[in-house]
Amino acid sequence: MNYTLPELPYATDALAPAISRETIDYHYGKHERTYIDNLNRLIKGTEYEDMDLEEIIKTSDGALFNNASQAWNHIFYFFTFSPEGEREPKGKLRKAIDEQFGSFDKFKADFESAGTTLFGSGWVWLSTDEDGKLFITQGPNAGNPLTEGLTPLLVFDVWEHAYYLDYRNRRADALRQWWDIVDWQIVESRYNF
Ligand code: MN
Repeated sequence: MNYTLPELPYATDALAPAISRETIDYHYGKHERTYIDNLNRLIKGTEYEDMDLEEIIKTSDGALFNNASQAWNHIFYFFTFSPEGEREPKGKLRKAIDEQFGSFDKFKADFESAGTTLFGSGWVWLSTDEDGKLFITQGPNAGNPLTEGLTPLLVFDVWEHAYYLDYRNRRADALRQWWDIVDWQIVESRYNF
């Protein structure tokens, strides 16, 4: 299989000021393209060539895992945002968040805290297990909850390349601002309980 960079469903300036066009051009247009190019190069002629990307993530390690997981994570991240959309969950996921975190505001505070306290590069995730129980986890580097048997629902990228052009060293400000572009209809659609 030859992976390609999917076209984003919004204009590259549509998420500003939360995420600028320049950040999308670099982060999606260059960083993500490189992960996909590396993935294609690393699977060529190997047992991974015709494997699903999620299966590669679950079964590989080293450079292949890093590039496969980063390729998947960035598509998941960028395809959670929209310039218009629901800014709060309203269905079953909202009920689960309220029950398990106390309130939507408390969930957001816990999620931001996980993002700001992750040392170095990585990702902060909201995932579900097969019973609908929710988890906020920190994944270092190319980490992905798929490797722990969880289903990802939402992710924020806390690598410096995700926010440095727009926020410099202010990671907490980036996390707070990104709520303005999360489309909770998309997040809800990933929670099938
Ligand atoms: Mn990134």
